[in-house]
Amino acid sequence: MRGWIEKGFDNLEAVKFLDELSDDVRRAIADMGYEEATPIQAAAIPPILEGKDVIGQAQTGTGKTAAFGIPLVESLDPTVREVQALVLCPTRELALQTAGELKKLSRYRRGLSILPVYGGAPIERQMRALRDGVQVVVGTPGRVMDHMRRGTVDFSGIHVVVLDEADEMLDMGFRDDIQTILEGTPEDRQTVLFSATMPRPILNLAKRYQKNPMHIEIAHKEMTVEKIDQSYISVRSFHKVELLSRLLVRDDIHLALVFCNTKKCVEEVVTQLQARGFTAAGLHGDMRQIERDAIMARYRQGSVAVLVATDVAARGLDIENIEAVFNYDVPQDVEYYVHRIGRTGRAGKAGKAYTFVVGREVARMWEYRKITGARILCEQAPTGEALLSVQRERLMEKIRSSAGNERNEQTLEMARTLLGEFEHPEQAVAAMMDMLLAAEGSRADASIDLRIVEPPRQPRPAAPQWQRRGPQPVKGAQGAARPAGRSWDERRDGWRDRGNRPYKPRAEYGGRRSK
Ligand code: ADP
Ligand code: MG
Repeated sequence: MRGWIEKGFDNLEAVKFLDELSDDVRRAIADMGYEEATPIQAAAIPPILEGKDVIGQAQTGTGKTAAFGIPLVESLDPTVREVQALVLCPTRELALQTAGELKKLSRYRRGLSILPVYGGAPIERQMRALRDGVQVVVGTPGRVMDHMRRGTVDFSGIHVVVLDEADEMLDMGFRDDIQTILEGTPEDRQTVLFSATMPRPILNLAKRYQKNPMHIEIAHKEMTVEKIDQSYISVRSFHKVELLSRLLVRDDIHLALVFCNTKKCVEEVVTQLQARGFTAAGLHGDMRQIERDAIMARYRQGSVAVLVATDVAARGLDIENIEAVFNYDVPQDVEYYVHRIGRTGRAGKAGKAYTFVVGREVARMWEYRKITGARILCEQAPTGEALLSVQRERLMEKIRSSAGNERNEQTLEMARTLLGEFEHPEQAVAAMMDMLLAAEGSRADASIDLRIVEPPRQPRPAAPQWQRRGPQPVKGAQGAARPAGRSWDERRDGWRDRGNRPYKPRAEYGGRRSK
């Protein structure tokens, strides 16, 4: 048997749970090519197999589906045709993904039927399938509620309920639905909850509906994938699109995920990238399911190269082969940071993560570096010249590598004619290369200077004797001494007079008013 079983584990718990799995499930796991258990799987599978309630926290992409899927499939009885397990997911996309994974895991267990149930699809078909008898329902809370209300589903035989991406479901306003659904299942069920974050509402849900749950948390450090090259780049906010374009061109990226903090930003970035000739599309929470599905399908096929999304819209999506993640806006907190960059570097491949910082946001990156313990490097924006030389080099390489390919006779004839017309044939080739470079030229504008100019550092003259005991000079934004009465203006990169600023009484700053 290949895979997990053959490799063996240092982790005794993991070995123990493998022994407890039945042959058909072990065969299915081996077929899926999983070599070893991920940390959350190693920690969560044994207690779930024992029937304990579990509350598990780990980053997206750490294999949570199999962490509950393996014990879930193991617990099913194919000879009983009633709903034995229910998995709730936030979106249709995830319901389909999860149902697919469960089907793979149960592939050698004959007579099992797993039904994804979600809104936006005709309810009659789902009703028919439910009547015929399914053992597992994987659904979105809204549609599952719908079936319960219509009485088209019977949950009295359920022994396990899984809440997957629980934080996301609560964010989407499914709290009441989830509670109603849980209350409509047998009291003695096993309840398993997975969530990427553990805010208070999740803990409240756990307290109310789980029995003595076992907490499993996979720490940030393990969560940050080592294979991801992380860096941050200081940029002015109005140069962000140019910076993004340059990096996309320089690194020759064919599949990128760009994160913005707001829906408005998503729309702006998409428009600007499209105007520059990138195939870009946006994903945000307000879109209809059908639009999201269409975009995701195009992205997966590779006909969209840059997907721009908000955190909520992109959460939980399992997309392979993302070459780079861009934090167009600095993520709100470190959990989001880890989440976002975890989208690249999947399946042991190398990935890149760039974060754009404006002004003092740089301090947030230092903080994230400290918390995650990851190597997050400071990088300079690529200069126009550097970009051009990369493009030239790449063009030459492309020509070299394809020159040996078979050509059709007409093209060859054209080349012969052209080269014959010139005294210096390199003229013709150079003209052709310039055309190709110009076609790329619209994507990034090499003439813009993206460098952040350091404020002038003037040697500070020794203070005259009478000043030495007085107030010390205040440091400016970047460490240079501040001229009296002026402050550093980030937007203009220069000192600004403060003389015309309106005076505000202390009370407005929260200070005490003196009587
Ligand atoms: P999560 O739910 O934590 O975001 P998923 O369950 O969607 O993560 O898994 C992410 C990807 O990792 C999937 O493509 C899955 O097939 C793969 N995967 C899961 N477990 C393993 C494993 N043990 N070894 C290799 N790949 C795995
Ligand atoms: Mg998942």
